Amino acid sequence: TKILLTGGSGFIASHILHQLLNHTSKPTVITTVRTQSKADPILASYPEAVSQGRLQIQLTPDISDPNAFAPVIAASSPGLDVIIHTASPFHFRITDPKVDLIDPAVNGTLGILRAIVSHPDAQKSVNRVVVTSSFAAILDEAGISSPSTVFSEKSWNPVTISDIHKSSATAYRASKTLAEKSAWDFVSSNKDANFSVVTINPPMVFGPIIHSLGEAGLKGINTSNQRIVDLLAGNWKTGIPDVGPGMLFVDVRDVATAHVKAAFEEGLGGKRLFTTAGFFSNKEIAEVVRGNFEEYKDKLPEEGKDVGGELPSEDQRFNFDNTQTTELLGIDWIGLDKSIVDTAKSLKEYGA
Ligand code: NDP
Repeated sequence: TKILLTGGSGFIASHILHQLLNHTSKPTVITTVRTQSKADPILASYPEAVSQGRLQIQLTPDISDPNAFAPVIAASSPGLDVIIHTASPFHFRITDPKVDLIDPAVNGTLGILRAIVSHPDAQKSVNRVVVTSSFAAILDEAGISSPSTVFSEKSWNPVTISDIHKSSATAYRASKTLAEKSAWDFVSSNKDANFSVVTINPPMVFGPIIHSLGEAGLKGINTSNQRIVDLLAGNWKTGIPDVGPGMLFVDVRDVATAHVKAAFEEGLGGKRLFTTAGFFSNKEIAEVVRGNFEEYKDKLPEEGKDVGGELPSEDQRFNFDNTQTTELLGIDWIGLDKSIVDTAKSLKEYGA
């Protein structure tokens, strides 16, 4: 099997890469990163796969360019079977939401799909495209506080391009929603597409870091693990921040497993997979760290005096139903305790 994984230097993609290279079917993996300095640590992590030709890297400096993936698809052909598209901006360091979030998300997704059907070999050989979408494409900001809202695999964020100036969070959610929509629209309207699409829709992803943080170190931590870095740095000592609307979580290892299953299992074609282990609160995260890491005691909010960060009460928050996804994937979701303990252990190794 030959698999193209985009955004291989990312938090989630590095776990997907790890699982693919350890997969029993021994696939060949071509992964994309933006620069050679992002490629080098990946190549150094898997010397055996590199020497066997099972791991190759292609540079794609900016996926906002609609033609970014054409040369990558050409270089990965013939015989390319599966594409796992994870690359998309997840950060709020933006000046223009269209340029910084929407364009790379939507052009990246459409660009790779168009590149497949435009290439004579890939058009025939690619049978599965797995797209990393998000709970951001499921949730509806207007329904967050209502217990009659039940978010499931069928739910769609009604956000449109005209909403992107409301806030950077809304713009990010729009980028994921519009990108996912463009993938489903592409397969339903394109007769040349010989592949099925699967989307993975995770909420907040926690878990150990196995990618290189480069020279930036913990300053360059991925967005979803930022809150744990903040907690360990003592930033929550005098008050725990609000959990925010995305109050569901999943461990990165389960998210990676979902992508790998989606790459290989025929029956998952056409599915939208809502991968979550359930609700979390910032207060619970602080409690897990307090209960397991004596060395961070001085950094943590004082027991009994810790304020804020609680989950809204049941009558003031949405409900969710991802039983279809759990049944399809057969994953026994990693719980909050293990996820946070393993994240904190890993961040400690990076100097947190
Ligand atoms: P990371 O920031 O670690 O990964 C994002 C990846 O996308 C990086 O490799 C990044 O490269 C690449 N990328 C971003 N913009 C561009 C661009 N313009 N051109 C080329 N590459 C680009 O975050 P995650 O691993 O968390 O995110 C991976 C995917 O998972 C994204 O699609 C994200 O939306 C999705 N997701 C993440 C969740 C989470 O909680 N972590 C939850 C739900 C979905 P570089 O670092 O070099 O900029």
